[in-house]
Amino acid sequence: MFEGNSNCFWAKRLGLEYFGGMNELWVKHCGISHTGSFKDLGMTVLVSQVNRLRRLKRPIAGVGCASTGDTSAALSAYCAAAGIPSIVFLPADRISIAQLVQPIANGATVLSLDTDFDGCMRLIREVTAELPIYLANSLNSLRLEGQKTAAIEIVQQFDWQVPDWVIIPGGNLGNIYAFYKGFELCRELGLVDKVPRLVCAQAANANPLYLYYKSEWKDFKPVIASQTFASAIQIGDPVSIDRAVHALKATNGIVEEATEEELMNATAQADQTGMFACPHTGVALTALKKLRDQGVINKNDRTVVVSTAHGLKFTQSKVDYHSREIQNMLCQYANPPVNVKADFGSVMDVLKKKLSRNI
Ligand SMILES: *Cc1c(COP(=O)(O)O)cnc(C)c1O
Repeated sequence: MFEGNSNCFWAKRLGLEYFGGMNELWVKHCGISHTGSFKDLGMTVLVSQVNRLRRLKRPIAGVGCASTGDTSAALSAYCAAAGIPSIVFLPADRISIAQLVQPIANGATVLSLDTDFDGCMRLIREVTAELPIYLANSLNSLRLEGQKTAAIEIVQQFDWQVPDWVIIPGGNLGNIYAFYKGFELCRELGLVDKVPRLVCAQAANANPLYLYYKSEWKDFKPVIASQTFASAIQIGDPVSIDRAVHALKATNGIVEEATEEELMNATAQADQTGMFACPHTGVALTALKKLRDQGVINKNDRTVVVSTAHGLKFTQSKVDYHSREIQNMLCQYANPPVNVKADFGSVMDVLKKKLSRNI
């Protein structure tokens, strides 16, 4: 469904104005895709394989997944296109309305469960052990094979030059490993001579990898993830933890985290330079901000921020931010609409005040 070949956008104004004169800030818009997230890249591979197995008369009644929203959207769309039943387990009230309505619209069996993502994951594993349902979780290497193409695209889009840094928001941690695999493949094939340094960016409210990194990889403990606007990465016990650690060690990687206020401010700033970023992209941009401030990423370093979903899936977070309706948050870049009486004088007063610096 025409997934892939996503735009690698030169975020010129964002880099120059908000990241200390960065000339080479790029945003890989993986969310501009059929169901609005990079999950399409993996799901097309997985569902194609299930399609093949069903034609070989393997007993597969359907495909199931637990999801923080985007996996289920991709699974249900590709299954619907192929005519395969899909079953999705979603944590009730923890995903956006747009993400909930996607599998509903595509005809999936949607189970809204009163637990978090980690709870959904445990349940679907138990269910798929009993029923002939193919499990589409991100440990499945078919998904990683699809997702790694985004890394190959990046290298190709820079004419086979490797960027210095690639920053990826991480939750269940399959994608950071998929990027590593893609870059490493290009290196092994001799297309390029190095791999970029990878940065995994987590929400501070769901940061088990960050804590592990800070302990110098000594002490991994799952956490109970709390609510975050970056709801697709609200995961406390990531299944691909070991793969992520491997990817980070092999690329001299770094893990950073973003508070809710930091990620929403970064999202708003990106939007004000013409993007329409999702909160996860805000998490990655916050990581960049911190590494710029620490002098780790230099202003001339070519840096790619991976935007994982389309902002239109997360409009409620933007509505809350711009109407300053978020508790304990200043929302300093809010741009609320001006309520004004529908007469010429009132409208002119507002516009003259607004434009006073320019007229
Ligand atoms: C799935 C997802 C992620 C996290 O990817 P993982 O492989 O789980 O680390 C990040 N952002 C968005 C929008 C996602 O849907």
